[in-house]
Amino acid sequence: MPQKFYSTKSPGQFVDLKEAVLRSLPPDNGLYMPEYIEPLSAVFWGKWRGLSLPEIGFEVAKAIFRDSIPEDQLEKIVHQSINFPAPLVTVKQQEHILELFHGPSLAFKDFGARFMARLMGWLTREDEGLLTVLVATSGDTGGAVASAFHKVPGTRVVILYPKGKVSELQEKQLTALGGNITSLEVDGTFDDCQRLVKSVFLQREMAERLNLTSANSINISRLVPQSFYYFEAAKRLPQDVKPSFVIPSGNFGNLTAGLLAEKLGLEVERFVAATNRNDVVPAYLREGEYRPRPSVATISNAMDVGAPSNFARMENIFGDEWESMKARVAGFSYDDQMTRETIRRIRAETGYTLDPHGAVGWLAAEEWRKSNSEAHTVVLETAHPAKFLDVMEEELGEGAVAIPKRLRCLVDLEKVAIPMAPDEEVFAEWLQSLGQ
Ligand SMILES: *Cc1c(COP(=O)(O)O)cnc(C)c1O
Repeated sequence: MPQKFYSTKSPGQFVDLKEAVLRSLPPDNGLYMPEYIEPLSAVFWGKWRGLSLPEIGFEVAKAIFRDSIPEDQLEKIVHQSINFPAPLVTVKQQEHILELFHGPSLAFKDFGARFMARLMGWLTREDEGLLTVLVATSGDTGGAVASAFHKVPGTRVVILYPKGKVSELQEKQLTALGGNITSLEVDGTFDDCQRLVKSVFLQREMAERLNLTSANSINISRLVPQSFYYFEAAKRLPQDVKPSFVIPSGNFGNLTAGLLAEKLGLEVERFVAATNRNDVVPAYLREGEYRPRPSVATISNAMDVGAPSNFARMENIFGDEWESMKARVAGFSYDDQMTRETIRRIRAETGYTLDPHGAVGWLAAEEWRKSNSEAHTVVLETAHPAKFLDVMEEELGEGAVAIPKRLRCLVDLEKVAIPMAPDEEVFAEWLQSLGQ
C-alpha cells in the first residue's frame, strides 16, 4: 500500500506522496505527516548494525514511503543523496558527537535538501515541462538547496537573495553554480525576497502553469533523510547502550526526525533539545504553555527562531499531551556568553572544535549528564565551524580553524546574478519570460 499523508490540522483527509512533497504546505496551513509509521521488521533489526548509512537510509525510507515509489528508484535516490559520511566522534568516554557537516554546503541541511531534490525530480519525471523551485534565502538555506538541485534532471531553481546582505562566501554558494540554478539579487531585504516568492504562489493559475514548487524547510521529504543518521549513531555504540540524543534546535525539524526514528523502533533514552536564547520549546517543557514570540539574534543564528515550525508535528506525535512530550524530550537553553566560553573550554580541554550551534548542544549534554550520570550523550554537530569564522577566530584566534577545500574553492568562482527590483509585478513578468 502507498503511504498517505494528512495535515496536522485535518487528520481525516489524505493526500499522496506527490502532493505532500510538491505542495509542501497543506492549504489549511498545517503540516503533512505520514499516516502509518510502524516499527521496522525483525529482519532489519537482525542486520542493522552491519549496514552502511545509505543502506539504513533505504530501509528507513521504504518503511515511511511504503509503495509510494518503486524500491529500485528509492534506493537510487537514497544512495545518490547520502553520498557523504556522518562520523561519530567519541570525545570522552560517554560523550559523543555526530558530525553532520560533511556534505557539500557543510551543514546538516544537505541531507534533507539533496534527498528532496532527487525525490522531486522523480515525482515530476512524467510531467510536461520543468519543475521550477523557488527559494528565498537570507544566506544558508539557498546554498544547500542550490547545490542539492544542481544538475538534477527536470528541475530548475530560482534563488532570491537580498543584495549586500549575505556574506561573500554565501553569495558564491548561491551564484556560482550556473546550469539549472539562476540567482536573483534583489534590491531589498530578506522579507522582500519572501514576499516576492509568496506573491507568485498566490497566483494559482500561473503557479500551476509554470509548475512552481517551494524548497521550504517544512517539507516532509526533508525530515525523512534526517532520521537516517539517528540509526547510524546508535549502531556505533555498544549494544546495551541507549543513546540520549542532544539536538541544537531552531525549527525543530531535526528533533522531529529523531522522533520518527523512535517510532520506527530505534531505542532512545531521551531527546534533549538545546536552544540559544530563543527558548520557546524549553519554556514549554518547563511550564506547559506554548508562547511563540519574535526571535532575537544570537551567534548560533541558524537557531534564531521564535515560532518553531515543526512544533505542530511534535504536538501531533504526542497527541497534544504536555506530559507525554515531557517524558521523552528534555530542554535547555544558553546565551551567547556561555556558548563562546564553551567553544574555548572544550577546545582547550579536548582539542575538539565546536561550532556555535554544537557548543549550545554540548552545554545541554553536560547538564543532562549531571542528573543522568550513566547517560551516553550524542550531540548532533549541525555545521562546520569554518562557516562561522568570525566567532571562531574571536574565541580561538586567527587561523585556529582549518577551512575545508570546498569552501576555499568558492573564492575563485565567478558570481553570476540577475539584478531584480523588489517589485511583485516585475518579478512575475521575469518568471513568465522563462516559459516552460
Ligand atoms: C537549520 C540549523 C539548525 C536548526 O535545525 P532545526 O531542524 O531547524 O531545529 C541548527 N544548526 C544549524 C547549523 C542549522 O543550519
